[in-house]
Amino acid sequence: MLIKMLKLRLLNAIAPAYFYTATAVTLALHFLLFIPTIFQNPGVTISSMTLLHTAIFLYLMLNALGNYTMTIWYPSESANDNIIPVCSPDCPDKVDAHYLFNGRHFCKLCRKVILKRDHHCFFTGNCIGNKNMRYFIMFSIYTSCTCLYSLVLGVAYLTVEYSISFENPLTFLTLLPLSTGYFFLGVISGLQFFLVLMLYVWLGVGLVSAGFCCQQVLLVARGQTWCQLQKGQLVESRGSWRENLSDVFGSRWALGFFLPVRTVEVKSEYEHQVSEHKHD
Ligand SMILES: [Zn+2]
Repeated sequence: MLIKMLKLRLLNAIAPAYFYTATAVTLALHFLLFIPTIFQNPGVTISSMTLLHTAIFLYLMLNALGNYTMTIWYPSESANDNIIPVCSPDCPDKVDAHYLFNGRHFCKLCRKVILKRDHHCFFTGNCIGNKNMRYFIMFSIYTSCTCLYSLVLGVAYLTVEYSISFENPLTFLTLLPLSTGYFFLGVISGLQFFLVLMLYVWLGVGLVSAGFCCQQVLLVARGQTWCQLQKGQLVESRGSWRENLSDVFGSRWALGFFLPVRTVEVKSEYEHQVSEHKHD
């Protein structure tokens, strides 16, 4: 139990560091390698394609980072619950959360009572609950887009710079084993090998974020949290899927879809408890 907790705490420190490093590397590769090489046009200082791709990339990145920041800025803690419940060593609850009443959970990593806790997100080092679920979903969508966009430009860069043809679908599958071999034989440079590795990182993160986002949207539409699902609590939906979605995304959801701005009409602690009692 203690070792497991230590592992989770370590992960909570490593995952944000991994996120920042991957973001910095992606930014550097785009502006130092991809965009200047792929869209270079002899005789023209800055081509319109360079501007277009710079704008698309910056827009996706801004949304991913903006929603990441919002997820951390608006945590879902409960201001009224100051007492930290003490778990006995043989507490039956999951290692990271202690279940309280009315959809409240005590997160053992955040050491706070969280309202409508969904799960603890290691990349943001925060719990995802009623207030930041929307930003978290938008963060997943834009991270997925940024990664897949980087993958496309990365493939274009390898084609332009190293004349690797991706016409054969098998090229992508054999790229990693071949590059690893070539790198250790000294045939290709470290940079080339690193680029190939990054292609797989972007593909992996892009697909995982997209899948995760779909799962979260489905849960939100059903008015459920991941915590409840894990506990086997099938909550009867309090409203239609439209109501459930607007509960999380707010009425100005369309604006929030395009820009990382605050759109959720957050219920105050008091209102939340009143509506909880009405339903009980
Ligand atoms: Zn937490």
